[in-house]
Amino acid sequence: MRIRVGHLYPDYLNIYADRGNMAVLARRAAWRGHELDVESVSMGDEVRPGAHDLLYVGGGQDREQALVAVDLTAKADAVHEAVAAGACVLAVCGGYQLLGRFYRDRDGVELPGIGLLPLHTIAGERRMIGDVLLDCEWAGRTLAGFENHAGRTVLDDGATPLGRVVHGFGNDGESGFEGCRSGRIIGTYLHGPLFPRNPWLADWLLAQALAHASGGEPPELEPLADELETVAHGVAAERARTRGGRF
Ligand code: GLN
Repeated sequence: MRIRVGHLYPDYLNIYADRGNMAVLARRAAWRGHELDVESVSMGDEVRPGAHDLLYVGGGQDREQALVAVDLTAKADAVHEAVAAGACVLAVCGGYQLLGRFYRDRDGVELPGIGLLPLHTIAGERRMIGDVLLDCEWAGRTLAGFENHAGRTVLDDGATPLGRVVHGFGNDGESGFEGCRSGRIIGTYLHGPLFPRNPWLADWLLAQALAHASGGEPPELEPLADELETVAHGVAAERARTRGGRF
């Protein structure tokens, strides 16, 4: 199958190697005989509902978020339509914040979000930086990554987090939760990039994207050895255990 990806603002929102997630997805797709076709969708470009199986957006500093926020709101209806028709979304950190209702930065400037996820974010004084370990009960797995954000994300009542924080700060350093999950939409603060040390999540998203591409159910993907990935996860988890979540 050809899996069509719309990479939102790769030229503005790409820190901590976030674009590496697409490289991992492309390899894992190819190892199963599928092809990942990544299209850059940036400033002034159109989101064409139905043209992509997966929409991806990385993280960025307040400055870059301010540059893209208004352009992203102009794409909001098309993104909502694409998601309503079953497209998947992965958003990391600054991109994750802009999927909510708004991001208010440290100067009190409110950047509009597209309201795709039930949350809002307000920047605090101190940045939350370090390694993170999450427990994702919904998948019976853990996620390990790196966070660096001033934003404190508040989920609406009834919203579903991506995982419970075992080590690290997570959404706001208090709730004990990280990220947000809504159907085929995943938002997270985890950089790294995320996928090399958490291949199960890459495969989960790949299966959801294949379901959209085929119009069917998410397929069972042939398992891969993932020896290096398992070691990388262990190292990241150990770092989170020893130094995550400390100002
Ligand atoms: N600028 C946002 C914040 O500081 C997001 C940072 C990021 O993407 N790493 O919270």
